[in-house]
Amino acid sequence: DKKHTVVIVGGGAAGISVASSLHKRDRSLDIAVVEPSSTHHYQPGWTMVGGGVFRPEVTSRPMKEVMPSFVSWYQQKVLSVDPDQNRIQLADGSWMIYETLVVAPGLELNWGAIDGLEEALGQNGVTSNYREGMASYTWETVQRLKNGRALFSQPPMPIKCAGAPQKAMYLSSDYWLRHGVLNNLDIQFHNAGAVLFGVPDYVPALESYIRKYGIDVHFQSNLVAVNGPARKATFRITDAEGNARDEEIGFDMLHAVPPQRAPEFIRESPLANEGGWLDLEDDTLRHKRFANIFGLGDVSGTGNAKTAAAVRKQAPVVAENLLATVRNQPLKAAYLGYGSCPLTVENGRIVLAEFGYGGKLQPSFPKWINDGTKATRAAWWLKAKQLPGLYWHGMLKGHEWLAKPAPRG
Ligand code: FAD
Repeated sequence: DKKHTVVIVGGGAAGISVASSLHKRDRSLDIAVVEPSSTHHYQPGWTMVGGGVFRPEVTSRPMKEVMPSFVSWYQQKVLSVDPDQNRIQLADGSWMIYETLVVAPGLELNWGAIDGLEEALGQNGVTSNYREGMASYTWETVQRLKNGRALFSQPPMPIKCAGAPQKAMYLSSDYWLRHGVLNNLDIQFHNAGAVLFGVPDYVPALESYIRKYGIDVHFQSNLVAVNGPARKATFRITDAEGNARDEEIGFDMLHAVPPQRAPEFIRESPLANEGGWLDLEDDTLRHKRFANIFGLGDVSGTGNAKTAAAVRKQAPVVAENLLATVRNQPLKAAYLGYGSCPLTVENGRIVLAEFGYGGKLQPSFPKWINDGTKATRAAWWLKAKQLPGLYWHGMLKGHEWLAKPAPRG
């Protein structure tokens, strides 16, 4: 059997960051990463590709260039976790023993939950910035559309980067406004939830852009089926009494976002909470029942916003607490639920939402960048010019920039 002191499941934003944060603290630590993919994606860039700001190539790098040289990389999928025996099973059927485990496989996009969507994607104006490689089709479709109806959907929470379905809509609308076609378009936002954004402080700024672009907002309207060739989408609309009815709406463009859930090998394991997500302590990020298991990133059942920005603050906390566990010391580092969502309300301005557990505002950038709940040019500059570099060369390399863990207590 293979055996390592630390085994990290997943080499995405979370897995690589935490490997680097651990290595920074203890250069002799034996770390393995199990990650099947040959490519690492900077998903926060996909919104910018969909808005014609980034070229698609800048959002991906070969995994072998991103994977730190100090880890043992197993290029395989994890099939199951057996926490009672401290082992995981790999796709080739073999087992790997861990002393401590970090669970970071991200989440699963449940495309199949929307009837017909997967077959419809990439043609007839049906697109999704959530789909690897498809954000450039969003941008093509936006530029081509001169009149007709554009639909943007948002599934039930939780999803990664909860603002991203709207970001696609605002950037598209801004393009149509600048090109004089906005008035020829019927733009509709269909949101399965009942609010524009989960943190109320940011809603007025978003509402002002909804008015500016003349967007027709429908709450409790959940996309359930798509017919690409017929260009028709079906929404299940729930009224105040809880009665549901289906409505079919024709479109010229549809930006769809699927419901999201934990990967099956976590959802159906002893590690899951009632909702299927990884059952972690909110502050220490240690598993609630298995003391040698930690987790972070989108798989986590903690109530933070599922973002790479959250990972920036989580990785140092997991690194400190995991090392304390290996050394039989008490856990001292706490994560306060930080997450961030740069809401691209127009090309050139962003409302930089930064908040922690319970929607408490937690600005981490200086005031000239994050000025409360207003859209600023400086926040756009941060997202468009600074964050990609900070991701590849800072966060993934263990430079814990503005991410000092809080003390517990
Ligand atoms: P991921 O980065 O998705 O990585 C998971 C990794 O685990 C993958 O490499 C995968 O191959 C691997 N894996 C999966 N299953 C297994 C398995 N069984 N065994 C082994 N490995 C496995 N965040 C922001 O901070 N700001 C933004 O503006 C922003 N915008 C976004 C816009 C879009 C359109 C999208 C899709 C996301 C956005 N995000 C944003 C969210 C951000 O990308 C995620 O929160 C972040 O990538 C989470 O990191 P993760 O490591 O948990 O998951």
